[in-house]
Amino acid sequence: MTDRFDVIVAGAGPAGAQCARDLATRGYDVVVLETEPEDEFPRQSNKSTAGTFPSMMSAFGVPDDVVMQYTDSVVLESPTDHFVQHQPGAVLEFADFKRWLVADGREEGAEYWFDARVSKPVTEDGEIIGVEYGGGQEVYADIVVDATGPAAPLAKKLDVVDLERKHQAIGIEYELEGIDIDAEGYADLHDAMMLRLDHDIAPGGYSWIFHTGEDTAKVGLCYIQNDAHRDYAKDGMGIDDYLQYWLDTDPRFADAERIAGKVHRGSAHIQMPDGLSTDNFMAVGDTVPTIDPLWGEGIHKGMKSGRAAAMTADRCFMPDDPDTSAEAMSIYDELWHSEVAPKMRTRLLMTQLLYLARNERYDTLMADLKRMDYDSLSDANSGSLRDIAKLLHAGDLPLLARFARERLAE
Ligand SMILES: Cc1cc2nc3c(=O)[nH]c(=O)nc-3n(C[C@H](O)[C@H](O)[C@H](O)COP(=O)(O)OP(=O)(O)OC[C@H]3O[C@@H](n4cnc5c(N)ncnc54)[C@H](O)[C@@H]3O)c2cc1C
Repeated sequence: MTDRFDVIVAGAGPAGAQCARDLATRGYDVVVLETEPEDEFPRQSNKSTAGTFPSMMSAFGVPDDVVMQYTDSVVLESPTDHFVQHQPGAVLEFADFKRWLVADGREEGAEYWFDARVSKPVTEDGEIIGVEYGGGQEVYADIVVDATGPAAPLAKKLDVVDLERKHQAIGIEYELEGIDIDAEGYADLHDAMMLRLDHDIAPGGYSWIFHTGEDTAKVGLCYIQNDAHRDYAKDGMGIDDYLQYWLDTDPRFADAERIAGKVHRGSAHIQMPDGLSTDNFMAVGDTVPTIDPLWGEGIHKGMKSGRAAAMTADRCFMPDDPDTSAEAMSIYDELWHSEVAPKMRTRLLMTQLLYLARNERYDTLMADLKRMDYDSLSDANSGSLRDIAKLLHAGDLPLLARFARERLAE
C-alpha cells in the first residue's frame, strides 16, 4: 500500500467525498480517510435530514435512487399562521447518498480507507505534509483537505479555524409514521418541507417536518446555544426534551410512532470562518464552517466547497513547477467567498435577527411574506439588504437596538 498521494482528504461526508470525486475524475491520486468502519458506514455520521434542491441534484449528478421523496413546496410556519412557497426539492436518504458518493468516487479512481481516524497533521518546517491516522500510522500528500465536519482535527491544530462553542447549533430528528400530514388548521404537508419558527418548541431556532411519503416524515429541531436560546428556553430541558414536547403537544403527532433506529443528530457552527487554507492545506464543508446559517442547508454548500477545493488543487498542480504555497491555495478562499457562500456576513446578521424575534413577530412575518412578490422574497433570502428592509417594521426598532447592543458587546 502506497503512503504517498497527490491529495489526502480527511472525512467522507458530502464535502470531502465530492472533493475526492472531482480530483479523481481529473486523474489525481487521492485517498479519503474515514473514521467509521466501512460495514457500518455511515453510523454516527448519518446525521442529516438531507433536504435539498434541484440546483444541487443537477450540479452533482445525484441519482434518483438516493431520493426518499420529491417535494413540491417549502412551508414556513409561525405559531398561528403559515406561508406556502412552490419550490421543487428532494429529501434524500442521507446514508444511501453518502454510500453513493463513495462508490462513484471509487469508480473514478479515488481510494477510500475506512476505520482510519485522522488525529493530527504531520508537519515539516511548520507546513503540513501528511496526516497521522489510526493511532500512529502516517500518510503523505502534496495537499491535505480537512473535511471532517465540526471535528476539524487538522484545521484546528493548524490554527486555520477557531470553532466557538457559543456559535454551535445542535440538531436532532426522528423519522415518524402515522402523522396527520394534512391536519385541520395547518398547511397540507404532502410533498412539502416545512420549517416552523416557534420558541415554544425550538427556542432560538426552528423545527421541521419533511414529508417522506404516505404518513411518514422526518421531524426534528435545532437551535444555536446563544442568548436567544437562553431567553426562550424552559428550565432543565435539553434538545431531546423539546422534540418530545413537540411530539406530545402537536395534534399532527397524536397517532404518530417513531420508526425504530431512525434518529439523527449532529452539530454545526454558525459563524464567519477565520481562515480557509494555508500552505498545502484547505478546509471544506462544516469544518470551515460552510453551512448556510439561516436554514441549515449544509449539503449543497459543503459539496460546492469540496468542488472549489478540487479546482484549487488542480490549478496548483497544473504548472510544470506545482505551487501549493499559502498564496497559491488562497484561490480557494476567493472561490469560497465568491461562489460557495457569497454574502455570508449578511446572512449571519439575518439569522441572528430572525432567531431573536418574538413569537408574535413570526406571525406578522408570515403576513409580510404572503404580500411580497417571489423575486423580492428570493432576493431577501439571498441577502439583498433592500429586500430585507421590506420585511422590517417600525415595531422592530427595539429588536434592532437589542441586536446592536449585543453586537457591540461581543
Ligand atoms: C439534524 C440535522 C439535520 C440537517 N438537515 C439538513 C438538510 O435538510 N439539508 C442540508 O443541506 N443540510 C442539513 N444538515 C447539515 C448537513 O448535514 C451538513 O452541513 C453536512 O453533512 C456537512 O457535510 P461535511 O462533509 O462538511 O461534514 P459531515 O457530514 O460532518 O462529514 C464528516 C465526515 O468526516 C468523518 N470524520 C469525522 N472526524 C473524523 C476524523 N478525525 N478522521 C476521519 N474522518 C472523520 C465523519 O465520520 C463524516 O463521515 C443537517 C444537519 C443536522 C445535524
